[in-house]
Amino acid sequence: THEVEHLKEKLISQAQEVSRLRSELGGTDLEKHRDLLMVENERLRQEMRRCEAELQELRAKPAAPCAGCEHSQESAQLRDRLSQLQLEVAENKGLLSELNLEVQQKTDRLAEVELRLKDCLAEKAQEEERLSRRLRDSHETIASLRAQSPPIKYVIKTVEVESSKTKQALSESQARNQHLQEQVAMQRQVLKEMEQQLQSSHQLTAQLRAQIAMYESELERAHGQMLEEMQSLEEDKNRAIEEAFARAQVEMKAVHENLAGVRTNLLTLQPALRTLTNDYNGLKRQVRGFPLLLQEALKSVKAEIGQAIEEVNSNNQELLRKYRRELQLRKKCHNELVRLKGNIRVIARVRPVTKEDGEGPEATNAVTFDPDDDSIIHLLHKGKPVSFELDKVFSSQASQQDVFQEVQALITSCIDGFNVCIFAYGQTGAGKTYTMEGTPENPGINQRALRLLFSEVQEKASDWEYTITVSAAEIYNEVLRDLLGQEPQEKLEIRLCPDGSGQLYVPGLTEFQVQSVEDINKVFEFGHTNRTTEFTNLNEHSSRSHALLIVTVRGVDCSTGLRTTGKLNLVDLAGSERVGKSGAEGSRLREAQHINKSLSALGDVIAALRSRQGHVPFRNSKLTYLLQDSLSGDSKTLMVVQVSPVEKNTSETLYSLKFAERVRSVELGPGSRRTELGSWSSQEHLEWEPACQTSQPSARAHSAPGSGTTSRPGSIRRKLQPSA
Ligand code: ADP
Ligand code: MG
Repeated sequence: THEVEHLKEKLISQAQEVSRLRSELGGTDLEKHRDLLMVENERLRQEMRRCEAELQELRAKPAAPCAGCEHSQESAQLRDRLSQLQLEVAENKGLLSELNLEVQQKTDRLAEVELRLKDCLAEKAQEEERLSRRLRDSHETIASLRAQSPPIKYVIKTVEVESSKTKQALSESQARNQHLQEQVAMQRQVLKEMEQQLQSSHQLTAQLRAQIAMYESELERAHGQMLEEMQSLEEDKNRAIEEAFARAQVEMKAVHENLAGVRTNLLTLQPALRTLTNDYNGLKRQVRGFPLLLQEALKSVKAEIGQAIEEVNSNNQELLRKYRRELQLRKKCHNELVRLKGNIRVIARVRPVTKEDGEGPEATNAVTFDPDDDSIIHLLHKGKPVSFELDKVFSSQASQQDVFQEVQALITSCIDGFNVCIFAYGQTGAGKTYTMEGTPENPGINQRALRLLFSEVQEKASDWEYTITVSAAEIYNEVLRDLLGQEPQEKLEIRLCPDGSGQLYVPGLTEFQVQSVEDINKVFEFGHTNRTTEFTNLNEHSSRSHALLIVTVRGVDCSTGLRTTGKLNLVDLAGSERVGKSGAEGSRLREAQHINKSLSALGDVIAALRSRQGHVPFRNSKLTYLLQDSLSGDSKTLMVVQVSPVEKNTSETLYSLKFAERVRSVELGPGSRRTELGSWSSQEHLEWEPACQTSQPSARAHSAPGSGTTSRPGSIRRKLQPSA
């Protein structure tokens, strides 16, 4: 019974075990898993569909506006990622379906196992029933046997026998149980494997889900970004549109205004255009007629111009004729004027008192002037006042320029072809050289005359061509020498021109052409050097010789071809001081005689000229002979009588002034002929003989009635009134 009891317990536990296994194996868990997976799968599928739909939507929406921008690149990347994800999802789907298939197979196998288990259980139940029946039978037998105690042993024996049989059945059922257990274990193993597979599939699903979540978040981010960008783009676009709109509005406004202005302009221009068109048409008509008009006008203008030119030409001819006539007239008038004024004029110049004059009563001033009459000079000689009248008297205050002013007209007449002589006369030291040459700082007549000639010639340069030449000569002891020549010692001769013109010339006399003040200075310098080297005591020598500067002005009138030649002779005479026959010997006496001779010859010639004598004794001295053609005819002569103002020189001063007055007083009335030459010889102070043989008193017979002025030595203040 014990054993039975034990078996029963075992059976019950086995049944329990079986029921547990069934509940375990009942497939409910697996089925649940499968269902869960199915549900999960379904959800994923739905999600995927949603994603796809969204993607589709996104693809459809922003493709156009974002073309080319970086978002499109990003979205392309995202699309790529999405397609990758889709691929992965598809793979996962494949895996899932594989898993599903496996699950299906497993469930099928499970169903099979369950069937087998059911069979086993049914068999087991049958066996159990059979065994329990036998157990009951056995119990009954045991009870009956107990009642029949002797036979118990036997019963036990049978039971034992029968029990072995049961034992066998039990072992058999144990074996079967074993087998079933093995099978269950196997099933468990399978289940475990399946569970593991399920777990891995779960993990995979979780992974996939995480990936999907990630993709989703990425997608969402991209979507957000895209939206943001789209929004900003939209804003930009809107702003740009607004700005453009505002600008367009402003521009439109301006354009409208312009349009309005243009319209009004157009309105005002239309009438103007109309008038312009009219004008244009009128002008066109005029222009058509213009060439004809122009030709006519040109013809008439040409004719007029031709006429005008002819007129001008004839006018010109007329003017030229008149000009020539005027030129002639001017010359005539000039001649007349000079003739009226007297073509021999005498002026006096008193030098200032100098240091050389010394001090004391001898150096006192003996010369005074008339404040109202500049032609009067008073001299106090040995206590007696003596007065002289000359053409002009220059006091010691007179400047070089003042003196030059007086001789200027004379010098310019050279240009017109006149011959001019200017003499400086006076005792040594009276200022002859100062007046003629002057000092370098304050030049005298010589240089000023040449300057004037240059400037005058320059002024006339448009009509005249002039050449100015200069010669310098010296007459000492009646010998003529060239101061500019290479051999100053050579004696020069004065010859008549072989052309029969009666003109004189000096063969071998050097002539320099000068064009500027520099040239003159060079010439003067040269002459001076020549003279200095020639004579040891130049001062003494020059006071005993006549120095001549001969300027020749030759001109050609460009329009008429008229030729003129004028000569200007500037003569610094030898000292006029008289040398007593007793006080001089030898060479000094000879010099004095020569000087006296030449000076008296000059006086004679001038007198003869003034008295219009038929014969003028030019040949009586070298000086007058040389200057013959410059003293005769239309020539003009100016004598500057230099006067020393001091007391000790009064005798010489008186002598010089007398000489001057005598020269001057031979004033001629028109047509009158007078000679005062007789007076020359009657001068008691003159120690030289009158050289002039033509000084005949008979000449007086020609003097005009009424002009009866006479000049006698010592005559004081004779106002000369040439008879009209
Ligand atoms: P001449 O030539 O008659 O012998 P100068 O011309 O040599 O006399 O004159 C003698 C001196 O008197 C010189 O020193 C000169 O400078 C001076 N002299 C002459 N005239 C004037 C004057 N007007 N003003 C100033 N000094 C003069
Ligand atoms: Mg001198």
